[in-house]
Amino acid sequence: MAERRKLIAGNWKMNGLKADGLELASDLAGRLKGAGAVAFDMLVCPPFPLLFPVGEAIADSPLALGGQDCAAKLSGAHTGDISPQMLKDAGCGFVILGHSERRQDHGETDAVVKAKAEAAIGQGLVAIVCVGETEAQREAGQADAVVGAQVAGSLPAGANAATVVIAYEPVWAIGTGKTATPADVAAMHGFIRAELAKVLGDADKVRILYGGSVKPGNAAELMATADVDGALVGGASLKADDFWAIGTSCR
Ligand code: PEP
Repeated sequence: MAERRKLIAGNWKMNGLKADGLELASDLAGRLKGAGAVAFDMLVCPPFPLLFPVGEAIADSPLALGGQDCAAKLSGAHTGDISPQMLKDAGCGFVILGHSERRQDHGETDAVVKAKAEAAIGQGLVAIVCVGETEAQREAGQADAVVGAQVAGSLPAGANAATVVIAYEPVWAIGTGKTATPADVAAMHGFIRAELAKVLGDADKVRILYGGSVKPGNAAELMATADVDGALVGGASLKADDFWAIGTSCR
C-alpha cells in the first residue's frame, strides 16, 4: 500500500484580521518547529489580504500556505479575481478549489473547478479539489453518483498525486457539528479512490482529506479511518490549540 503522509489543512474562510492571522500562524509555525518530526504536514489557508504577511511570518517554518480559491486566468481584466501566479508569489504551495461554499455562493461548476485546477497546477500549486454531496442527495441515495461526477468533472487531464489532493466534504457536515460516521467516510473515500484509479495512474498515492466538523474530539477516529489521508478543517482551524490537537491526533 502506498505511504501517504497526512495533510492537515486549515480553511480560515472569511475570518480574521491581520493581527489575528499573524498570531495564529506564528503560534502554529512555532509549534511545528519545536515539535521536530511529526506525522503530518500542516497547511493554513488565510483570506487573500493576509497571504503576504502570514507567508512572511511562517517562511522559516514547515507550515505551508495556501489560497482559498484562484482564477483560471493568470492576469488581465478580471476585477476582483486573484490569479494562481499571485498565490505563488505570496508563498503559497496549495490552493483550495471547488469548496461547496464557492459552488453554492458563486455558482462554480465542475468545469470551472477543472479550469482553475489546470491553471493552478500550471503555476506549480497543489490543487485541493473539494467534492461532496448535500443532505438531500445523500438521503436520495445519490451520494456516490454526485461525488463520482464531481471527481470526474473537476480534475484536469494529467493530474497526479503530486499535483492534486481531494477533499471529501459532505455539505451537510460543514460547520454544522454533524460528522459523517467513520464507516460512511471509509466507504466514500474508498469509492473516490476507485474513481480516481479510472483517470489517474497513481490513484493509490493521492491524498484524500475528510472535511466536515472535524475537531479534537473526533479527529483521532477519523484520521485512523481507512483511506483518510488528512483533514480539511474550517471552524477548528481558527484556534491554535484545536488545530494543533487535530494534527497531533495523526499516527
Ligand atoms: C470547511 O469549511 O471546509 C469545513 C470542513 O468546515 P468545518 O470544519 O467548520 O465544518
